[in-house]
Amino acid sequence: MKSSSVFLIALGGNLPSAAGSPEQTLRAALAILGKQGCDVVDVSKFYHTPCFPPGAGPDYVNAAARLAYAGTPADLLEVLHRVEAEFGRERVQRWGRRTLDLDLIAAGDTVLPDAQGFARWHDLPPDEQARATPDRLIVPHPRMHDRAFVLIPLADIAPEWRHPVLQRTVSEMLDTLPEQARKEVVAL
Ligand code: ADP
Ligand code: MG
Repeated sequence: MKSSSVFLIALGGNLPSAAGSPEQTLRAALAILGKQGCDVVDVSKFYHTPCFPPGAGPDYVNAAARLAYAGTPADLLEVLHRVEAEFGRERVQRWGRRTLDLDLIAAGDTVLPDAQGFARWHDLPPDEQARATPDRLIVPHPRMHDRAFVLIPLADIAPEWRHPVLQRTVSEMLDTLPEQARKEVVAL
């Protein structure tokens, strides 16, 4: 379990919560994670990102963090869901507005549920990506490599982390994204 005791998470939000603005919500969420058995080792800069899909709501604030955590990836996802709930997130609309979204991006070089299960979600056609919700934990997060709002914050804290299936580092994955997508993610 050595390699999976370092976890990378993505944080995002585009609606105010009881903690305040999305930026304040993200900072409060990091503080709470620190009290839930997670050691927040490193935090990226915070970024403004256009809402996806366009028009579905206000712009997002996004960030990434590196956590040291003694439990399994599934345990950590449970912690992340609890913290989301604490900030009032209701799962109503896929990719809709939300006060707080916490995604588990990576657990060292662990692949879950297994190479085949990862491949199924990784290879999902774009229209199904918007509709289908995985009923189990997929690690690395199956869309991380094509999302500038994940890779840009991640590059602040883990540019050399190598995707265990795609065999590319965060910097390399970022380099393959269209210039336009990268330009949209702007540091606060
Ligand atoms: P999204 O983050 O894709 O906009 P949700 O946060 O609503 O959507 O997550 C949908 C489901 O995906 C959750 O119920 C969660 O259990 C599952 N899931 C699978 N893999 C992961 C992961 N690596 N990180 C976060 N959630 C995941
Ligand atoms: Mg999520």
